[in-house]
Amino acid sequence: MKKRLFTPGPTPVPENVMLSMAAPIIHHRNPEFMEILQRVHENLRYLFQTTQPVVVLSCSGTGGMEAAISSLFGKGEKVISVNAGKFGERWGELVRLYTGDCIEESVPWGRAVTPERLKELLREHPDTRGVCLTHSETSTGTASDIQALAAVVREESDALVLVDGITAIGAHEFRFDDWGVDVCITGSQKGLMMPPGLALVAVSERAQDIINAPGRTSQNFYLSLQKALKSHAGDDTPFTPAVSLIIGLDEALTMIREEGIENVWARHESLAAACRAGCTALGMELFSSSPSFAVTPVWLPEGVEWNAFNNALKYSNGITVAAGQDDYKGKIFRISHLGYYDELDMLTIIGALERALREIGYNFPAGSGVTAVQQAFLGS
Ligand SMILES: *Cc1c(COP(=O)(O)O)cnc(C)c1O
Repeated sequence: MKKRLFTPGPTPVPENVMLSMAAPIIHHRNPEFMEILQRVHENLRYLFQTTQPVVVLSCSGTGGMEAAISSLFGKGEKVISVNAGKFGERWGELVRLYTGDCIEESVPWGRAVTPERLKELLREHPDTRGVCLTHSETSTGTASDIQALAAVVREESDALVLVDGITAIGAHEFRFDDWGVDVCITGSQKGLMMPPGLALVAVSERAQDIINAPGRTSQNFYLSLQKALKSHAGDDTPFTPAVSLIIGLDEALTMIREEGIENVWARHESLAAACRAGCTALGMELFSSSPSFAVTPVWLPEGVEWNAFNNALKYSNGITVAAGQDDYKGKIFRISHLGYYDELDMLTIIGALERALREIGYNFPAGSGVTAVQQAFLGS
């Protein structure tokens, strides 16, 4: 059976990226590797739309989040963290661990924080040193308006803007410099079409000044952005990098550059719209009021039991989708279209949903979901 991943990390890896990583290992101090790393650094600036450094860390996305918090903030520094799902919750946990002073703003799952609410919070807490946001909250498939939120922070305060862009980068328009973001993180196994193992962290000049301030006591070692930035300046890394993954990243970034970042964003927006159309045509309800272009969360229809549905997808059709988390376990499921996906993949996933739903006895006119997807791309 052919297996297909429709999960928001790990995501499918293109054949040319996989092949590039199968080449014999090279030494990371050889000029050959430094040339690759230099190109990766350059293309990462393009990906994040920045002239600032984007460092490559050998860890998953969470390591990038921890590197940011532990490099930027010390004990007693106040940080606002928006919790609108699993990953916003993680920001809060990291802030509490490293500063002990977290103003956590809880937002109901499936909704995004508004700029007005953030403005109120900043006025209530004028001593805020940083604001942690999530661009695409993967647990709820919900996007927030980072451009507007970052603008509010810049107008109201000197606080740093930290963005978890882990499923937004490569799916949603994102402009690090123009929007005034200070730190943005992504991970290799999401929009970058790579296996897990790398975190990419963009760092603004303001954030670099804080990280490199004289007399600053360090709370970390392996995850030190100070060390990573220092090496980055010479297209180097402080420790042995994940050589093969960086070679794969070079290939993946070249693909993104060739497609053009605006086209990559537009492709995700269009795939997401077709996926939503296919699901609603099957009589299913969408979960998010502000849908992400990376992942589509859908309510399980009345009477459809998650385990039976998931087993029919996985074992009869070779399809893996993501389950709901926490309170939404068994209530919603999530379809990813992040990274290496095209229009025909959307026909595949909606076709697979039809087959699995039929198998467990949920009825609808065969082909109604697939028709909606075709019409989304081709017109009626
Ligand atoms: C996947 C993900 C993370 C965590 O990344 P890991 O690579 O699992 O450490 C953080 N934030 C968001 C929004 C994610 O989608």
